[in-house]
Amino acid sequence: MGLVQGVCSCCGKKIRRESPVSIVVTCDCYRVCPLCGEQMEPYVPDLSPRTYRNENCVEWDPFKAAERDERSTATVYVCRRHDPPFYSNRLPVEVLLK
Ligand SMILES: [Zn+2]
Ligand SMILES: [Zn+2]
Repeated sequence: MGLVQGVCSCCGKKIRRESPVSIVVTCDCYRVCPLCGEQMEPYVPDLSPRTYRNENCVEWDPFKAAERDERSTATVYVCRRHDPPFYSNRLPVEVLLK
């Protein structure tokens, strides 16, 4: 078993795994709240038609120029330790280990 390693381009953390070949892993830093450093919880967007009816309707907003709420469908994690809660839309960072 060989050892492969790489550095996350987002948080700079060194990641090591045992693998005979180069592999791509996902750094979990996107789950860490940048404000308090705690693990955030997955955020399930409120997709009820009542909330998003206007923004997602092409006829109502043909040029997609409308301002969108911070809590859009892009939000994937939330830290509720803050007021208001911190909503993150960071995506998992892929790190090549070799
Ligand atoms: Zn990272
Ligand atoms: Zn936090």
